[in-house]
Amino acid sequence: MLDKLVVIENKGIFEKKKISLDVGKEKPWKVEASTTAKNCRNFIREVVDNLDLQPNPEKPVIALSLGDPTIFGNLKPSKEAIEAVVDILQEGSCNGYAPSVGHEVSRKAVAEYLSYDGVKYTAQDVILCSGCSSSLEISITALADGTKGQNILVPRPGFAIYRTLAEAIGVKVKFYNLLPENNWEVDLQHLEDQIDNDTVAVIVNNPSNPCGSNYSAEHLGDILKIAYLNKVPIIADEIYERLVFPGNKFVSMASLHSGVPILVCGGLGKRFLVPGWRMGWIVVHDETNAFDYIRKSLISLSQRIIGSNTLIQVTYFLLSSSQTFH
Ligand SMILES: *Cc1c(COP(=O)(O)O)cnc(C)c1O
Repeated sequence: MLDKLVVIENKGIFEKKKISLDVGKEKPWKVEASTTAKNCRNFIREVVDNLDLQPNPEKPVIALSLGDPTIFGNLKPSKEAIEAVVDILQEGSCNGYAPSVGHEVSRKAVAEYLSYDGVKYTAQDVILCSGCSSSLEISITALADGTKGQNILVPRPGFAIYRTLAEAIGVKVKFYNLLPENNWEVDLQHLEDQIDNDTVAVIVNNPSNPCGSNYSAEHLGDILKIAYLNKVPIIADEIYERLVFPGNKFVSMASLHSGVPILVCGGLGKRFLVPGWRMGWIVVHDETNAFDYIRKSLISLSQRIIGSNTLIQVTYFLLSSSQTFH
């Protein structure tokens, strides 16, 4: 029994009365979760968190499921990066909100950092996000409509978060195969076969997690040709941009000037070894003004959480003006 005070009206007079509830007989109160929440699944976490293994007591467990460069302590962020954060923190001017797309100086710094190989970005092309995961989430949400049965194409094998983000908002995911015998290049025929009238974006992840491949300009050109002929925009997940072995060259999809509108997603996490700093970006590459509405939508979507960590934004600006950065 649960005693409860209630207010009852008796002939126009309100009075408090103690009543006893027999809680055992009432239906238990269960708050229903939203469709978005129910559709949200992280496929790696589901496996890893539910592993029921008896580790060999003689041997240490090596966790290969988590791509975090900081875990084992042998890859440290640069001294300059640490000092820049300390300076900004002590200087005290970056404890407040920035515009939701990021501070202008920081957007400009990202635009300059990514302007190479004939690509030229301005601050207006850059939206700062809370890590590259947030860049991907905003890009997918801007392009794909779950209520209209639209789909996006993602690589298989590929980074699991694309599916997590898309399916949470009802967007269907179709997979295109990568070919292990061709250094994990895209099976171009299979990619083209997956495109249908409801396909609104292709995600290309280069260099690839988990495959470690780094595509040639020619192969990227072949992918862009399919996107161009079918009028499907690209989300280029280039979080491993320029993180290639000596002697190899990274080619950004934007540098091929294919006429395909591309949202280039990236961030500080991997190349600068600070994934916990949560600083990512979307850079709009659009030579044909196909993305006029999308630019507006990216800004609206960024306003949901008022952008990324402002201390790190300005640290990034300071770093980018230093010698060691590029
Ligand atoms: C790590 C990773 C991301 C997410 O980066 P964050 O900045 O940590 O959100 C996105 N795509 C790929 C392929 C990654 O490996």
